Amino acid sequence: MISGSVEQAAERLRKAVPIMVKHGIPVTPLNYALWYTYVANEDPTLNQRIDDIVAAYGTIPVSKAEDLFKTHISPTGSQELALGRMKDDLEQMVQGIGKDLHATIAGTQSFNSLLDECSRDLRSPASVSASIDDVFGTVEKLLQGSTAMHESTARFEQRLSAANAEILRLRNEMEALRQNAMHDELTGVYNRRAFDTELGQFMGHGDRAPVIHLAMLDIDHFKQFNDRFGHPVGDRVLSLVGAQLNNVARVGVSVYRYGGEEFALIFCGGTLKQAAELAETLRLSIERLVLKDSRTGERLAHITASIGLASRLPGESAADLVTRSDKALYEAKASGRNRLCQAP
Ligand code: GH3
Ligand code: MG
Ligand code: MG
Repeated sequence: MISGSVEQAAERLRKAVPIMVKHGIPVTPLNYALWYTYVANEDPTLNQRIDDIVAAYGTIPVSKAEDLFKTHISPTGSQELALGRMKDDLEQMVQGIGKDLHATIAGTQSFNSLLDECSRDLRSPASVSASIDDVFGTVEKLLQGSTAMHESTARFEQRLSAANAEILRLRNEMEALRQNAMHDELTGVYNRRAFDTELGQFMGHGDRAPVIHLAMLDIDHFKQFNDRFGHPVGDRVLSLVGAQLNNVARVGVSVYRYGGEEFALIFCGGTLKQAAELAETLRLSIERLVLKDSRTGERLAHITASIGLASRLPGESAADLVTRSDKALYEAKASGRNRLCQAP
C-alpha cells in the first residue's frame, strides 16, 4: 500500500534516485521499489542486506536485486507492484503541484470577488454619505486581501520552482544513466548495446529505407600490445584508437565499440564512396598514431587497423549486413592488414 503525503513521495524520490545513480543502478521499477523501501526505512533487514551487497560489489548486481525484491517486497516477483510504486510517487508530486495551482486559482477568484465587493461599496448610493472611516475600512479590506493573495502566489511559485528543479534533476540523472548504459567507458564511443539497438533503428521500417553503409574496424595484431607491454598498455591503445574514431563521428556517422578491439561505424545517408573516403582517412589517422612509454617518452610501437566496408542491399537484415562487412574485414586482414576492403 502506498501511503504518505506529497512531500514524502517527493522526499523518497529525492533520496532514492541519487543513491541509485551513485551506485550505477538503473532506475527501473524493480530497483526503485528496493531503494524506495530502503530510504523509507520500512524493512531494516532489507536495508542491512542492501548495505552488505553494496559494500561487497559497490553496486547491486541484477541477480541480487531480483532476489531481494522476491524475498522482501513481492514473493511472486510482481514487477507491476514495483512499477506502481514509482508511478505513484511521481503522480503524487504532480498532484501536489495541481493542488497548489488549484489553491492559487481559488485565491485569485476570491481576491477578484473582494475587488468587486469593494468597488460596489465605493460606488453605492450610500457611499455618497460614507464617512472617511468607511472608505478607510474598504481600503484596509483590499490591503488584507491583496497581501493574502501575494503570499499564496509566492508560496505557489516557490513550490512550483522547487518541483521544477526536482524534475529537472531527475531528468538529468536519468539521462546520465542512459548515457552510461550506451557508452563504452574505456574508449568513449558508443557500446555494443547501442550498436544493436541503433542499427535496426537506422534501417527504418516499411517503405522508409534510408541508405546505410557499415564499416567494421579491427586493430591489427592487437594481442601483441598486451603480450609485449601488458594489459594496461593494450587499454591505452584502445582509448587512443577510440579518440581517433570519435573525431570522425558526426551527424550521419556513428561510432561503436563492437567488442574487444573491434569497432563499427554506421553511415546513414551519403554515397558508398564518401563512406570509403572517411574510413580511409580514419585508417591513415590511426596509422600515424605512435604508442609511447608514458614515463620515458620512448616510442614503443605503431598502431594500424584493418577495415571492412559494406553497403546495405535492398531489404537486407542487420545481421546479414554485419556478416558481409565482417567478410570484407577478413579480406583486409588476409591481404596484408592496415587496409580497407569493400564488400562486392
Ligand atoms: P588480428 O590482426 O588478426 O586482428 O590479430 P589480433 O591480435 O588483433 O587479434 P586477436 O583476436 O588474436 O586478439 C585480440 C586480443 O584483444 C585478445 C584479447 O585478450 C584482447 N582484448 C580484448 N578486449 C580487450 C580489452 O578491453 N583490453 C585489452 N587490453 N585487451 C583486450
Ligand atoms: Mg585485431
Ligand atoms: Mg578482433
